Amino acid sequence: MRKNRRFFAVMAATALTMGALSACQSQPTETTAVTESTTASETTVAETTAQTKAEETTAAESKGVYTPGTYSATVTGMREMTVSVTFSTDAITDIQIEHEETPGIGAPVCESMPAQILEIQGLGIDSISGATLTSNAVLAGVEDCVSQAGGDIEALKAVKPEVVAEADAEMTTDVVVIGAGGAGMAAAVQASQQGKNVIVIEKSSQMGGNTILSGGAFNAVEDGSEMAKKYEDSVEKHYTQTFNGGDQQAKPELVHILVDQAWSAVDWLKDLGMEFEDTPTTVAGGLWQRGQKPVEPEGTGFFIVYQNYMNSHEGLEVIYNTTAKSLIVEDGIVTGVVCEGKTGNQITVKANGGVVLATGGFGGNVEMRMKALEGTDKWPALDENIKTTNTSNVTGDGIAMAQEVGANLIQMENIQLLPLGDPQTGSLSGNIGHGATSFIFVNKEGKRFTDEGGRRDDMTLGLFKQTDNFMYMIMDSDTYPNGTELNNFGEHINDLVDAGRAYKADTLEELAGMIGVPQDEFLATIEEYNRHCPGGDMEGEPDEFGRTLFTDGEKKNNGINTPPFYAAGRVPTVHHTMGGVEINEKTEVLNTEGNVIPGFYAAGEVTGGIHGTNRLGGNALTETIVFGRIAGEQAAAYTK
Ligand code: ADP
Repeated sequence: MRKNRRFFAVMAATALTMGALSACQSQPTETTAVTESTTASETTVAETTAQTKAEETTAAESKGVYTPGTYSATVTGMREMTVSVTFSTDAITDIQIEHEETPGIGAPVCESMPAQILEIQGLGIDSISGATLTSNAVLAGVEDCVSQAGGDIEALKAVKPEVVAEADAEMTTDVVVIGAGGAGMAAAVQASQQGKNVIVIEKSSQMGGNTILSGGAFNAVEDGSEMAKKYEDSVEKHYTQTFNGGDQQAKPELVHILVDQAWSAVDWLKDLGMEFEDTPTTVAGGLWQRGQKPVEPEGTGFFIVYQNYMNSHEGLEVIYNTTAKSLIVEDGIVTGVVCEGKTGNQITVKANGGVVLATGGFGGNVEMRMKALEGTDKWPALDENIKTTNTSNVTGDGIAMAQEVGANLIQMENIQLLPLGDPQTGSLSGNIGHGATSFIFVNKEGKRFTDEGGRRDDMTLGLFKQTDNFMYMIMDSDTYPNGTELNNFGEHINDLVDAGRAYKADTLEELAGMIGVPQDEFLATIEEYNRHCPGGDMEGEPDEFGRTLFTDGEKKNNGINTPPFYAAGRVPTVHHTMGGVEINEKTEVLNTEGNVIPGFYAAGEVTGGIHGTNRLGGNALTETIVFGRIAGEQAAAYTK
């Protein structure tokens, strides 16, 4: 089993500033430092010094309370981890964590949090958004060790980092990108490849946004290729399924760009060092087997190559913990952005070229999504009872900023839900589905209710009609032959079972008992489903829900009949907002009169009109790279 062993002494600020991926590689051993500075190309004022130090009085009070030694605790984040803490009589002197948390998401937290704890000698630190499970596990592990060493946990929780105010700053670069998620980083790297200096403004302490939390699959087909022939696919089929899958509400010219440039986006990513599996997958709601699957889990592969690019090229930097607040408009041209730094200071970033908005969607903003759905009846009220897959930093900020400078918003009511949310958090973590070919959904009565190979909106609307809006995803050894395999979110199925988030049984009868569904109904459901799978007496015929997706090309899923059998509970969750800022083929933002707002580009989930009413699974990542690259290219070429 692969284990990462990390050693820490002090120093959190560098890891946090560099963000997820660099933090993942760093092994700080210094005992001083704590100066964070951001230098930009042509920085005019860059006096940004941050000092994070312990609340000395309180920290002092907690001294002298430990029984010296090293103590260990086993806790569970995304997976099981061992936290070992060494104490002297009056201080926490070392924290080591053995973990297998996801690179780029949980793994950096296993570095930054211990470093912070050591630095402030306290436990009053916030969990990292997007990596809450890991954050809570690290804190729980250290607390356990403190308790073993006889320390006062409550006193340590009261010790918080003290943040010293940073100075205001103003800087100028060639291209400004707002948001270091999928589209923003694609735009930034593309503009950099065109020889421009680029500054990316990022609200959180990590790059990745919702993109890094996704299943990672990327719809793309290369016309005439062996893969296209094998899976009977074409760019035209991708277009038709995308356009019809969104009820023909998308802007056709944008859909054409999406599908036409999807494969060159794959090539671009490969050139940057990204690796994909040989066999494409059918993502839930993807309708076809064209999801190019990154080798790295979730969306981490994209950001690993972006970070590597940044490490080896000058002139592209991400300023973290900085929130874009408003756009600067001069003579009708968008020329920059005014931001708020982490201590409330103002950071102004001006662009010689274009400004790219890539702040993601608004699925996590309850107020905004409720407003967008006023007067519509597709979904039940998407109030706070319906959770989201979104990270808490993505809250529709860019849509409001764009509207303030006259941008037109389109199709805001087109909101996508998935039937795949974690029952507690709404996140995609714990989703045991791989390809849509190999699972079924059953309700609490043990019955299927939808075509699991169908559209995301149809599946979720179906789920809303079931008891408690709740279902179990069911599969067999086709997906997880022995339980040590990973799901699409970097989690071992056996760990999910141990944590009570999934179920595993040797027989279907046993599984029915574990999840509490009527055994007879459940067995009849599986038997009927299996009849349509390869080898069944109704092979090739659609089932009662119209499902035709029963094989995955390579492997020939042959039904749910081979132990071990698996189940996991899932609920509806808000996932993606298809509406947003209107753009044209060049990603130029349009105003309410349909005219281009000069200097202003947008890409990714912040934009509208690319998917229509329903987005195909696997098309979002394609959108971020295809349109992100166009935005980067255009912003790099823009001159006032
Ligand atoms: P997309 O898929 O469109 O690229 P993501 O969700 O992957 O969108 O990324 C959006 C990024 O934008 C996230 O990293 C998020 O933290 C960042 N972001 C959102 N609002 C702001 C803001 N006001 N200022 C800076 N960054 C922001």
